[in-house]
Amino acid sequence: MKKIIVAIDGFSSCGKSTMAKELARYAGYIYVDTGAMYRAVSLYAIRNGWMTETDIKEEELYKHINELKITFKTDEHGEQQTWLNGENVEKEIRTLEVANGASRVSTLGFVRRELVRQQQLMGQEKGIVMDGRDIGTVVFPEAELKIYLTASPEVRAQRRYDEMVAKGEHPDYSEVLANVRERDHRDQNRSESPLKKADDAIEIDNSVLTRTQQRDELRKLFDAKTL
Ligand code: C5P
Repeated sequence: MKKIIVAIDGFSSCGKSTMAKELARYAGYIYVDTGAMYRAVSLYAIRNGWMTETDIKEEELYKHINELKITFKTDEHGEQQTWLNGENVEKEIRTLEVANGASRVSTLGFVRRELVRQQQLMGQEKGIVMDGRDIGTVVFPEAELKIYLTASPEVRAQRRYDEMVAKGEHPDYSEVLANVRERDHRDQNRSESPLKKADDAIEIDNSVLTRTQQRDELRKLFDAKTL
């Protein structure tokens, strides 16, 4: 069977990683969550005191960007974990603070260039499902299957709100929605690789599809490209 590259792009919290993971399992492919890589850079900058709410010490981050070694490992439950310089940082990178920082460091050209370089190396052998914002446009413009996933800001904010409640947090829905809108705006309007649909990407709006419908749709598209 022919091995391909699958690129899945879209806004935050629209279910990209769930979809990408499911397809990777179905196909027996490697799954790469590129958002986790931007989050790891954000965590590194926060821990070193290079990023506050108002400021990023770009020169410091630039000097040290080559020191970051980001890898993925599967734990005993089959869940993928993100490692940064030999430490499992999966939990730490999922906080709102780190997510907001990721959205800010991802606007920096030198950060993007380094992570794109690492992502292209990971896809050299194909047989990979990668999700992010610029996979079909910048990282793998030649990907055989490109998906552009959308869902309304309200649907995505509600999902994130429910996740936070399930974790025992007490979020305010309007704040969560404002955060979703702010990150969307930054993703779409940055000068470096803004989020946009590649011309040859297939758009799926998952506000109107169940998870099973979405999974089946994606499998069908994948089979058509590989069988
Ligand atoms: O997808 P996730 O929310 O984990 O991504 C974290 C942040 O990283 C996003 O807000 C987005 O700005 C950035 N990102 C990016 N390019 C990618 C993946 C993520 O700019 N390929």
